[in-house]
Order: sequence, then C-alpha cells, then structure tokens
Amino acid sequence: MAEKLNLTDTLKKYFGFDTFKGEQEQIICNLLDGNDTFVLMPTGGGKSLCYQLPSLVMEGVAIVISPLIALMKNQVDAMRHYSEEDGVAHFLNSSLNKSAIDQVKSDILNGKTKLLYVAPESLTKEENVEFLKNVKISFYAVDEAHCISEWGHDFRPEYRRIRPIINMIGQAPIIALTATATQKVREDIKKILGIPDAKEFKSSFNRPNLYYEVRRKTNDIDKDIIKFIKGNSGKSGIIYCLSRKKVEELAEILKANGINASAYHAGMDSSARSAVQDDFIKENIDVIVATIAFGMGIDKPDVRFVIHYDMPKSLEGYYQETGRAGRDGGEGQCVAFYSNKDMQKLRKFMHGKTRV
Ligand code: ADP
Ligand code: MG
Repeated sequence: MAEKLNLTDTLKKYFGFDTFKGEQEQIICNLLDGNDTFVLMPTGGGKSLCYQLPSLVMEGVAIVISPLIALMKNQVDAMRHYSEEDGVAHFLNSSLNKSAIDQVKSDILNGKTKLLYVAPESLTKEENVEFLKNVKISFYAVDEAHCISEWGHDFRPEYRRIRPIINMIGQAPIIALTATATQKVREDIKKILGIPDAKEFKSSFNRPNLYYEVRRKTNDIDKDIIKFIKGNSGKSGIIYCLSRKKVEELAEILKANGINASAYHAGMDSSARSAVQDDFIKENIDVIVATIAFGMGIDKPDVRFVIHYDMPKSLEGYYQETGRAGRDGGEGQCVAFYSNKDMQKLRKFMHGKTRV
C-alpha cells in the first residue's frame, strides 16, 4: 500500500496526473519488481508513461528503442517539460552531430539522464554499444514492438538485432509495448526478444469517446468536408487521402476556403514534413491533409476529428488512424466517406498484391 501511494505521488509530481489510466500502475509495479513485461494497449492508451515513470524512480538509465526519429524528438521534449533538468531525457540517432553526441554522453555519465531514446540502427553501432556497456541500465523499453515481427504490418529488420545487443550491453528487465499484435505477432515478439515469461497486460481496445460515422461520398465531398470543418472551427483534425496528389489538391482547396490547412505525405522532404508536424502540434495549423505516412507516434492529445476522404485499406489501419483522435479522452469524431467506386478500386488494388 505504501508503494502504491508513492507511485501516485510520483505521477502527480512529474506528470501532473491524479490517477493512472487503465493498467498503468500494475504494469509499472511489474517492471519495478524487475520482471519482463508485455503491454498491448490501444493508441492513446498511455503506453509511454509505463516506461517514463519507472525510469525516473529507478537507478540508472532506461533505454527506449523506438523506430521513428520524429517520435523520439516529441517524447524527449515532453519529458524535458516534466523535469527541471534538460538532461533527464536524450535521444541518440543519426540526426545528431559530434558535439551533440558528446553532450548526451556526458549527461549520462554524470547521472543526469534517466531516459535514453535510441533508434535500433544507432543502438547497433559499435561505439554506442561500447559506451553503454559501462553505463548502469535500469531497463530496456521496446516501443512499437510489433516492428520485430515479419508477421506484423511494419516489419523493421533492425529490430531483430535488439536482443543480441542487449546481451552485449548488459542484462536488465525488458518491457515491450505495442498497439497492434495478433496472437502470432505477440508470440513472435516474446520469442525474438527472449522474454518468454513476460507478464502480459492486455487492455480493452474499446474507445468510448470516439464517435464513428460513415457518409456517402458524392461529387460534393469537398463542400461537405469544408462545412464539417467550419462547424468545428478552431479544432485540430486530420484528413486522410489515399494518394499524394489528392492530398495536395484537397489542402489547396481547403486553404482557398479560408481553412488553416497543410499537406503532409512521404513525397515531401523531411524538413518540410517536420515543419508541418511542429506547426500542427503548436496549433499554427488546424487541419492536416495527409496520406497514412502521417500519424505514427504523433502525440497531439486533442485531435478532435479524423476524416477519411477515401476508404481505408484495412480495418486495422482504420482503427489506428481514427485512434489518433481524442487521445486525451475528450471527444473524437471519425467520419469515413464511402463510395462503391472507391471500394472497387481498392479491391482491384488489393487483388494485385500478393498476400504475405
Ligand atoms: P500511446 O503510446 O499508448 O499511444 P501515449 O503514451 O502517447 O499513448 O499517451 C496518450 C495520451 O495520454 C498522452 O497525451 C498522455 O499525456 C496521456 N496520459 C497518459 N497517462 C495518463 C494518465 N495517467 N492520466 C491522464 N492522461 C494520461
Ligand atoms: Mg506510443
């Protein structure tokens, strides 16, 4: 009981929250007890806190392995916001120059750093492994852990090297976290990470604050969308389209109608993309028109609507994309525009793809 009170105090002190969400507390206790832990929790469920909080109260540095550079930067900024010490969280990835890397290393050696985010390809670099061998590691967190499995939807070969590298750096408990994992992928994650006995925490995937609606897609769809946005003025939203061309066209149409919108897709260069992301987070932009390249790891808690201009390619993808709305527990409107023509196009497209 004493420990329980303590954790709630820690939660309040660093993160400003009064209560834990879902099973966060049990997960954190399991990790603090030194056990391997497996967390299956929907997007927006609060997975980050399951490793951020323990990292602050445990001795040593927690290593967080995460696939996207943009995602790391957001998380490090958020952690710095919670602490008075900027060195409390750092990331190591290919975007850092030599002097930035030296700063990271010196903060770690001086005991300032509690959380170190690394991309798997940086973790496998020999000089980083050598450096980390001499650092006390509190635990390893593997975020987006489904990336380790070939059966998952976002396989990253570098994730396979995590276990051998951990063996080189030094043993510590492992916490694996994901929002998407079938039984097969869950088994794969545990096997490849070498945590067969990890305790599993599976939370409900029901998101009662999300409101789902399907509308007929007509020739007036642009007008319908403009009307919807104007009816929700000042709120943040994302509109997903299947093609880059459509993304650009629609963003222009919205702008021409006085809506503060911006396009986002993988064909834009990375500095333009991160500028759009930053502007969205800082609310200089209300609406992002994007391909599905936008979203993974975007931690904007108050996205109030997600519109699908085109039907999504899979139900799982649709769940992920709409899951970006209402992460703070507040309202999230999810509107999908349906047309038979789109469905036929998608069917044809899916047929042409060999199934894996
Ligand atoms: P996930 O990684 O599971 O998608 P995040 O870790 O990004 O989710 O958290 C989603 C949102 O929930 C964030 O805005 C975070 O600040 C918030 N959150 C996390 N834990 C709590 C809590 N105990 N109380 C209130 N809000 C929380
Ligand atoms: Mg997350």
